[in-house]
Amino acid sequence: MARTTRFVLLFLLVSAFLSTFAAAQSPAQPQSQAVAPAAAPANSAAASQPFDIDAAVEAYLAKMPPARRALSNAYFEGGYWLQLWDFLSSAFVMWLLLRFRWSARMRNLAARVTRFRPLQTALYWVQFIVVTSVLTFPLTVYESYFREHKYDLLNQTFGPWLQDQLVMLLVLAVLGAILIIPLFGIVRRLGKSWWVWGAVVMILFFAFVSLISPVYLAPLFNKYNKLEDARIKDPILSMARANGIPATDVYEFDASRQSNRVSANVSGFGNTQRISLNDNLLKRCTLPEIETTMGHEMGHYVLNHKYKGLVMIGVVIVIGFAFLNWGIAFALARWGAGWDVRGMTDVAVLPLAVIVFSLYFFVMTPVINTITRSMEFEADMYGLNAARQPDGEANVDMLLGEYRKLDPSPVEEFVFFDHPSGRTRITAAMRWKAEHPETSSAEEMARPLFDAK
Ligand SMILES: [Zn+2]
Repeated sequence: MARTTRFVLLFLLVSAFLSTFAAAQSPAQPQSQAVAPAAAPANSAAASQPFDIDAAVEAYLAKMPPARRALSNAYFEGGYWLQLWDFLSSAFVMWLLLRFRWSARMRNLAARVTRFRPLQTALYWVQFIVVTSVLTFPLTVYESYFREHKYDLLNQTFGPWLQDQLVMLLVLAVLGAILIIPLFGIVRRLGKSWWVWGAVVMILFFAFVSLISPVYLAPLFNKYNKLEDARIKDPILSMARANGIPATDVYEFDASRQSNRVSANVSGFGNTQRISLNDNLLKRCTLPEIETTMGHEMGHYVLNHKYKGLVMIGVVIVIGFAFLNWGIAFALARWGAGWDVRGMTDVAVLPLAVIVFSLYFFVMTPVINTITRSMEFEADMYGLNAARQPDGEANVDMLLGEYRKLDPSPVEEFVFFDHPSGRTRITAAMRWKAEHPETSSAEEMARPLFDAK
């Protein structure tokens, strides 16, 4: 099913929380340096050894051959349009469900099977999710199978890919039921003020999904193991201790099952929070690059980004529910009878709710991206200060450029980027390096990252 639909049905936000803070990153934060004699040495270093930040940034950007850069740009820019097509295709499918009263029929069928309201809601949901997944499947298969292969970003053959999709559908069916049963319960009991409590339920739901995801959800798609290699594990755990993180384990997972993308993430909530790095990172990166990435992930952890993100996204959700309340009432007054939807408390209203909610989130894309992008940049700065590997950082930023446009315009970055662009990140790393010349690494600078194809 198309990505926007998933978003609205919460799975995307679920996966956002699963891997929100995914994609490898890094750099340094001001605190650890705060007590050190900052200004004077930095200035004197700069004076004795002029370092051209802009030239250093360009040198890193030039590591990617032009043909490869063009491919990465085409992939990422195509993604902008896909967001629009996803939204439109999802809205169209929802409109079909209303216009031809399929939604009303699914509700009637559920009501014939049981009189127990929560079970009716669940039965409706299962029909809904299957029908919409089938109808949006052509776009899904283009977007996440053929297109990914076209850009050489997917390793899976069709069978395993389809199997992952089916598992996702199953997860969505279960989690969605867990969300919408209480939501409709609230609508029926609380009447007009339902949307306030509805938003609260949704925020709690995100926290819940985030809590269970590393233990119950992520392992459905990848194998997670404790990282054993002492040459990597020891420096990472040492850095964790230096940053006050009580970790005894780091996890690695077989992302290469799906792609060659380099990434790492902090997943979980409360007690289940953990840092995981993927096998592509382990295979393709040097120790300084792995360290800077881990420093970034530790930044997410130490800076409590999970909780801050939940609060900020929570505000977006509350406003979204107010809009949802208004939008549903507006549309039902005009077309409700024709659709055979009997009001806000009728589960058959769901396709309409999806249209209104996805419209809202579509418009809010720059806001949501800015929330995550700001935290990602904070984590970058934290990682620089923690790992002190600005050149390793710049190399990782370049590797991420395989699937994220390296050098967008500022407006483009503001609207579409949920992580800072390669140029932004490398500039921050080189600015940091200019004031910490002792951390410069000739090996990292010289390391070729891409075969010239
Ligand atoms: Zn991150």
